[in-house]
Amino acid sequence: MADGMNEKAGILYVVATPIGNLGDLTPRAREVLAQVSLIAAEDTRHSGQLLKHFGIETPVVSLHEHNEAQRSAMLIERLLAGESIALISDAGTPLISDPGFDLVAAAHEKGIQVTAVPGPCAAIAALSVAGLPTDRFVFEGFLPAKPSARRARLATLRNECRTIVLYEAPHRLREALNDLVAALGADRRAVVCRELTKRFETIYSSTLEQLAAMSASDPDMSRGEIVIVIDGAAAEATAVSLDRERLLQALLEELTPSQAAKIAARIIGDKRSELYELAMKLK
Ligand code: SAM
Repeated sequence: MADGMNEKAGILYVVATPIGNLGDLTPRAREVLAQVSLIAAEDTRHSGQLLKHFGIETPVVSLHEHNEAQRSAMLIERLLAGESIALISDAGTPLISDPGFDLVAAAHEKGIQVTAVPGPCAAIAALSVAGLPTDRFVFEGFLPAKPSARRARLATLRNECRTIVLYEAPHRLREALNDLVAALGADRRAVVCRELTKRFETIYSSTLEQLAAMSASDPDMSRGEIVIVIDGAAAEATAVSLDRERLLQALLEELTPSQAAKIAARIIGDKRSELYELAMKLK
């Protein structure tokens, strides 16, 4: 036990559960879920089915985005009183685009031991089958639902050279792929991983443009749960972005951001609005 730990407190187990295939619940997860005093679950009815399937009778309370702050306080009290608690979400690893952050952070603050019971995670499963570089990647979670906010987020990823992993809702797949083509280019390689570990698991690997066309003609592609994995930008694109920054930085020594963006746009042909945004960041 590390220094500063509360030795009388119970343990908070952060337990990964299947992302579709019940066979993926690890034996250790099963054991922990059966032994703790309480399970904190995102949706008690949903997790009830999993627990019933495995004959686990541990009491369950809800912990979701709308009650997390207040529920965490109660769970921390029980942990401090010596009870051990398991945190699970509807599927996969808690805290990964799922609730639990407040509880885990509060447990650390109180010196409560937090233990990982690792297992399925859709982002990692998708990376493992996508066939794109995995030595460096960036997880972006869900893109904003509003088109303007989504496009602004994608603009920041234009020169990202690490592999990009996104979660996407099925009804937004087509729109997201169209926006990805506009932001990252038609020829960028990408992989749509659908229904991983389930009966209709399908991996679509192509360019962004072709994936966008496929999503328009194949309704099955936007059924079920989806992870999009996108190749990073080529090294030259990153070099151009560094040049953009250096150019703007030099211009900003003498000019306002608006003037610097106007001149930089004339020199390198990029959009003035984008350069202005970058200039404001660099200022
Ligand atoms: N905590 C989960 C994890 O570890 O992957 C993610 C929870 S997030 C609310 C749900 C999203 O994860 C889905 O909308 C989808 O993008 C992705 N996802 C979950 N299960 C999946 C599966 N079986 N196949 C593909 N994507 C999946």
